[in-house]
Order: sequence, then C-alpha cells, then structure tokens
Amino acid sequence: MTTPSPHLAASPSPAAEAATADAPVGIRIEGLQKVYERTTGREIVRTRALTHVDLTVGANEFVALIGPSGCGKTTVLKTVAGLLSPSAGVITVGGRQVKGPGTDRGVVFQQAALLPWLTVERNVTQALEFAGIPRRDRQERADRYLELVGLAAFHDHYPVELSGGMQQRVGIARALALEPDVLLMDEPFGALDAITRHHMQMELLRIWEHERKAVLFVTHSLDESLLLADRVVVMNKGGIADDVPVPIGRPRDRQTIKDDPDVAALRLHLESML
Ligand code: ADP
Ligand code: MG
Repeated sequence: MTTPSPHLAASPSPAAEAATADAPVGIRIEGLQKVYERTTGREIVRTRALTHVDLTVGANEFVALIGPSGCGKTTVLKTVAGLLSPSAGVITVGGRQVKGPGTDRGVVFQQAALLPWLTVERNVTQALEFAGIPRRDRQERADRYLELVGLAAFHDHYPVELSGGMQQRVGIARALALEPDVLLMDEPFGALDAITRHHMQMELLRIWEHERKAVLFVTHSLDESLLLADRVVVMNKGGIADDVPVPIGRPRDRQTIKDDPDVAALRLHLESML
C-alpha cells in the first residue's frame, strides 16, 4: 500500500496534478503480482518477487522507480515491457492491455546489447525492420534519432569503435526511433563512469523536453531520481513504500537540485525510507 507522504500534501507539482483523474495515462499497473517458478529436479522453487504493485505513469510524465537491490524493480519493468507475464494483475499502456512485447514500448537496459557486426545506423534500422516499420521510413528515422542523441557523425561506425556512453546513446536512439508511447529504462547509466553518467543524464533530460513521453526509469541512485523525475516511487520488498512528487520545476541541473530546500527535505525523507 502507498503511504501518503507529507510532501504529497505540502507541494503538489504540476506533474503530480497531471497524473490525476482525467489526464492521459501512459502506463497503468493494477494489483501486479509476480512469483517466479523454477524447477530443480522434482521440486518447484517459488520466489515471490512482487506482492502487490499499483502504479500509474501519466502520458508525459517521468517517474523514477527506486529501491534496494532485489526489491523487484526490474521485474516491474520487464512485465510492463511484456517480457514477463504477471502472476496476477493487469497492465495497460495507452489504454491497451499488455500481452507481450510491442513497439508502443521502447526498452533500454544497462547494456545497450548492440549487434557488433552492424554499423550504428544499421543497428537502428534493423530494429525498425523487426518492428515492421516500412523501408522508406527506416533511414529517415535512424538519421533523425541518431542526430537527436548526438551521434550523426558516427552513423557508419561499428559498436566496438564507440565508448560505453556512446553505445548507450545508440540504444536510446534505437528505442526512440520506434516512436513508442512509453520509454522503459532499467538503470541505463548504471555501468557508466560518473562524468559520462552525468552527461547522459543531462542529454536524456534534453531529449525528454523534446519528446515528452511517459518514462519509467529504474535506478538505485537517489540523486539520479531527483535530477530526472517528476515523481519518485520507492519500492521495498515487492511492493511500493512511497510515491512522492519532486517539488521543483524544469529545467534542472545538479546545482538547482542541490540548492533547493524542498528537494533537500525530500532527499532526507527518501534516505530514511531507503
Ligand atoms: P531489482 O531489479 O530491484 O534488483 P529484481 O526484479 O531483479 O530486483 O528481483 C526481485 C526478486 O526476484 C529477487 O529476489 C530476485 O532474486 C528474484 N528474481 C529475479 N529474476 C528471477 C528469475 N528469473 N527467477 C527467479 N527469481 C528471480
Ligand atoms: Mg534490477
């Protein structure tokens, strides 16, 4: 169950208001449960990963999902992606029930998993081909989204020629090129060094200002969640422990986040939860 936080009452952000009643909904998760089953010999081993998750992400809202390792963040993201089926509960994206993977959802994991034998550009166009995008649109989209992530000049390079941060940007371009309604990101910058990571965070904010999609962003960094998100949702052992709006407008940067007294108060509150 979600415990109402004092922050929710004290400073409702425009984003939190946008997520209410009649605002368009990006992702709706209702009563989600997940039990993993694994057979070892004659025994069935069950792991209850999610006990009960209710969560809504507005159509233009950026929500960070945060919590300790093993609390179920990736499981939530993968069920929304349609890569795992729920044991109970219903997930809808843009009002349609999720029954498997689909091009309405762009997914970015910690590793970009590019195909090493294809150029940057072909990595994007091939994903579009798999998604059934007509040939005439593929090249135009690849050009446009590689430009958006600042990699136009590298379109004919191979993944091995790129840094980790650049590979991750290709992964983001590939997800965006599907022109999905929602973006699902699982610790996408977790493997990057601190400087590259910050650069990528600012880059993602810039892109998101440009393409306001519903974003569900998994992280275990409190600073990252406060910098990026409209709302921070805290998970704890398979459920949601708190759900609080970030009480500061945009654009933001590391300094505004650091200096703002309301954000400082929220940080203290969230630290106590984690
Ligand atoms: P997080 O992303 O927050 O670290 P996960 O969603 O990966 O958490 O995992 C939640 C729980 O489910 C953990 O106890 C984990 O060990 C378990 N789990 C995850 N994937 C599997 C799987 N494929 N089979 C069995 N248990 C799993
Ligand atoms: Mg995880």
